[in-house]
Amino acid sequence: MDSILSLSNVSKSYGNFPVLKGIDLDIRKGEFVAILGSNGAGKTTLVKIMSTLSSPSEGVVEISGHNVADDPASVRSMIGVISHETHLYNDLTAEENLRFFGKMYGIRGDGLEDRINELLEQVELSGRSDDRVVTFSRGMKQRLSIARSLIHEPQLLFLDEPYTGLDQHASRTFEKVLQDLDPKDTTRVMVTHDLIRTFQMCNRVVILDHGRIVFDSPMSDVGSAEELKEIYISNVKSHSSI
Ligand code: ADP
Repeated sequence: MDSILSLSNVSKSYGNFPVLKGIDLDIRKGEFVAILGSNGAGKTTLVKIMSTLSSPSEGVVEISGHNVADDPASVRSMIGVISHETHLYNDLTAEENLRFFGKMYGIRGDGLEDRINELLEQVELSGRSDDRVVTFSRGMKQRLSIARSLIHEPQLLFLDEPYTGLDQHASRTFEKVLQDLDPKDTTRVMVTHDLIRTFQMCNRVVILDHGRIVFDSPMSDVGSAEELKEIYISNVKSHSSI
């Protein structure tokens, strides 16, 4: 099977408090997987573990066959994370920010300059490439942050509540950028509370409840956004966040 991300028996506890309990999950290349669950279900913890930002207390995470615990550096070059934190340097210009992150991933020379120009165009910031980020509106920072996450053409993209706090322009840009990504090249995993977008965009849905996967299905088996909502309500013990 063409698996890009595999979790075997992954658990995580904070002190004596178990947050993830024996998660087994296999994600294939090209999938766009939504992870749903109420607040506190463990979604962010799971994404942090999948994206090397946190280690599991137990279990194994593999990305493209690399064990994340043994080889975090190789794994980081394959993944990108878009969250509501922008992770930009205010004192650098838009272009300098992208150059900095590109170099961090080992991209150099004309290839890097072409990639920077292409991304600035995609996120509609070409006209502001030489301006320092400190002069940008929140929405512009969000758009630049999307470009930053994609600079190294990650094979696996994690989207952690990407719509939180996005203004309309950033939201539209984000959707356009996502649509332009070739699913063959980029597998996507998105944590969200938005059932309508989940139904429209994703081809697989995983529901997490109290640290366990309680539902995992191709979206083609879910008839409508309304049906997805019913599935969510029947699988989640506390569903205050939808
Ligand atoms: P979700 O993203 O589904 O809302 P989280 O993964 O953020 O859930 O949190 C799951 C549980 O783990 C919550 O009860 C939260 O309070 C707890 N938790 C998350 N991070 C920490 C941490 N660094 N220290 C202690 N508890 C944490």
